[in-house]
Amino acid sequence: MKYQILIVGGGNAGLSVAAQLLRKNPKLQLGIIEPSEKHYYQPAWTMVGGGVYDVADTIRNEADYIPKGAEWLKDAVATFQPEANTVLTRDGKIIGYDHLIVCPGIQLNWGQIEGLPETLGKNGVCSVYSHLYAPYTFECLKNLKEGTAIFTAASGAVKCGGAPQKIMYLAGDHIRRAGLSDKVKLEFCSGGTVIFGIEKYAKTLRKVVERYRIATHFKHDLIRVSGPAREATFKVTAPDGSVSEIIKHFDMLHITPPQSAPDFVRNSPLANEKGWVDVDKLTLQHRKYPNIFSLGDASGMPNSKTGAAVRKQAPVLVQNLLAAMDGRTPSAQYNGYSSCPIITGYGKLMLAEFDYDNNPTETFPFDQSKERWTMWVLKRYILPWLYWNRILKGTM
Ligand SMILES: Cc1cc2nc3c(=O)[nH]c(=O)nc-3n(C[C@H](O)[C@H](O)[C@H](O)COP(=O)(O)OP(=O)(O)OC[C@H]3O[C@@H](n4cnc5c(N)ncnc54)[C@H](O)[C@@H]3O)c2cc1C
Repeated sequence: MKYQILIVGGGNAGLSVAAQLLRKNPKLQLGIIEPSEKHYYQPAWTMVGGGVYDVADTIRNEADYIPKGAEWLKDAVATFQPEANTVLTRDGKIIGYDHLIVCPGIQLNWGQIEGLPETLGKNGVCSVYSHLYAPYTFECLKNLKEGTAIFTAASGAVKCGGAPQKIMYLAGDHIRRAGLSDKVKLEFCSGGTVIFGIEKYAKTLRKVVERYRIATHFKHDLIRVSGPAREATFKVTAPDGSVSEIIKHFDMLHITPPQSAPDFVRNSPLANEKGWVDVDKLTLQHRKYPNIFSLGDASGMPNSKTGAAVRKQAPVLVQNLLAAMDGRTPSAQYNGYSSCPIITGYGKLMLAEFDYDNNPTETFPFDQSKERWTMWVLKRYILPWLYWNRILKGTM
């Protein structure tokens, strides 16, 4: 079995590029390897955790979104064999290609936190990083009448770096509206060093943190959880580099799991030193194998990993891949654009947009560092519609 173009992963990135490529040339022989029968709209899971979005509305059949003209191989890639232009699948099939697009997303490493897999989804331990636990997040919030709610943020690359804060601000607003601000203590324990990397947006977020009386602790990495004892252990790195452990009691613990490139990418010849697919950050073409391209969460560009980034990467990749197929030099460039629609409360959102150099690259002709109801409407109603009807169809 061999394709002109083979795509690894039929998520946001895989389906977007497949649809765009087939719109440009319906005759392309294109295969998509994707193991999941379901496709998920992950950006809505923070709203599921906040009790304002039904998780069922974030899940649809993959089959309904495979673009016409593409062939879906319901299997998973196990090994890349770039010297032979083939991949080996979990079912033991060898599939060949002329050009390969690698976009299997990011891996959630729940097991890296001791005790977490046993207690996730019970004992007040929840996460919006999975459709399985996002509804439980709201249950935890509803049941929280007093005590401490801790929100973690993992150090290292994660998808949607703003998600750990979005759910925290929804929780803060929920607690304030329930009149429980004096009874429930909120803590943000982050492996990072700042609330947001761009001062323009950080300024607004510091005010939001103050509004909900959230205590912030940086350089705190969650390493262990005991659900029954309701204890979370953090590795704390002091400014002088010394490391200690601290145990915190919780009544609700929202987890952002540590994340990495999927193991089968990390352990392949395609990976860079950090494990991601080693592509040029402007052209998205592999640095060693010119017939391989990558985009989305698994790719090695130093942008913030979001679906919004995928939207800007996809047309660049499509243009460069078609050029490479014609024997031309890829010349389209991705500028590192990413966006983070940070929910700051029910009906409130700050839309951060920026490039590789952390320069704001805003879409709207107003100051996007302000919290706005209109931007909430965009996130809650408009973006999900655009995702299913335009982005996955290759028209946006
Ligand atoms: C809680 C949360 C909130 C978010 N909020 C936002 C937001 O507000 N805005 C925003 O822009 N983005 C947001 N994101 C991020 C966004 O969902 C991702 O960046 C986006 O889905 C990345 O697309 P992708 O195709 O690279 O990965 P995915 O969409 O995750 O797709 C990867 C696909 O690869 C498949 N796959 C895995 N392994 C294999 C294999 N071995 N072989 C073949 N296929 C494989 C998977 O089954 C999956 O379908 C959020 C994510 C989460 C979890």
